[in-house]
Amino acid sequence: MAPFASRGVVHKKGTPILELSGVTVCYNGRVALEDVSFRLEEGEQIAVVGPNGAGKSTLFKVIAGVLRPTKGDVKVYGHEPGGHICIAYVPQRSQVDLTFPVTVADVVMMGRIGKLGPLRWPRARDWEFVHHCLQIVGLADLANRQIGELSGGQQQRVFIARALAQEAELMLMDEPLTGLDLTSQEEILRILDELRNHQVTIMVATHDLSLASERFDRVMLLNRRLLGIGHPQEVFTPEHLKEAYGGHLRLVQSADGIMVLSDTCCGRGIER
Ligand code: ADP
Repeated sequence: MAPFASRGVVHKKGTPILELSGVTVCYNGRVALEDVSFRLEEGEQIAVVGPNGAGKSTLFKVIAGVLRPTKGDVKVYGHEPGGHICIAYVPQRSQVDLTFPVTVADVVMMGRIGKLGPLRWPRARDWEFVHHCLQIVGLADLANRQIGELSGGQQQRVFIARALAQEAELMLMDEPLTGLDLTSQEEILRILDELRNHQVTIMVATHDLSLASERFDRVMLLNRRLLGIGHPQEVFTPEHLKEAYGGHLRLVQSADGIMVLSDTCCGRGIER
């Protein structure tokens, strides 16, 4: 089955998949995001990088339409984002209750809820689609296992399969590699590569500057304000990094470029 041929979503022609204009979000009068503007191209993969409290989750919430900006506009294919099933949020594992007795296939089927008829009764073709999504993430063999029995990396892949089952065109992934071993991280990265073939646009929030600079088309550096968006070489400049991380990064100049040493959880640093 061609997974996303059946999307059938009606979008305004010629509009970008995502466009933010002057978005400001305040919580109880405190500014969490300030005057953020950017647009995304269809099918691109972008890393959203910034320290804790930079506003990454807030950004995802306004894009997903669960939080309204205090000022400014969010447009998904030219429309307000609320209720768009073409946007999927892939949560951090720690935000999900995995003790609930439910199978892997059931979790993925939850992604299809907006596609099912009024009785919300999955048909044979929905189960077939779920199976196909599990194949893409390499978990078809575990469809009938309880979600709580899976490893952290496998659970993360189930959430990606759920977003695929939703036929999402824009996936917002919150720290998808955090806490995973290297093999599981590689597997998630392989799936991200595979999703390029399906024209899924992806935003990944990450602490990991190395991963962002090695693996993504564009990066966005956020610390309440948008400090830069573009190619990692243009965005991860010493000035921008100092502005984002202050004293939490050490920049070491050498003849070959700048080495960035971080005291945040990524711990790997980047070399330019
Ligand atoms: P990040 O995901 O980059 O760690 P967040 O978007 O979670 O950043 O948070 C940005 C800022 O907004 C932080 O200062 C945080 O304390 C604050 N914040 C986030 N959610 C809320 C909320 N529901 N109520 C009040 N303040 C919040």
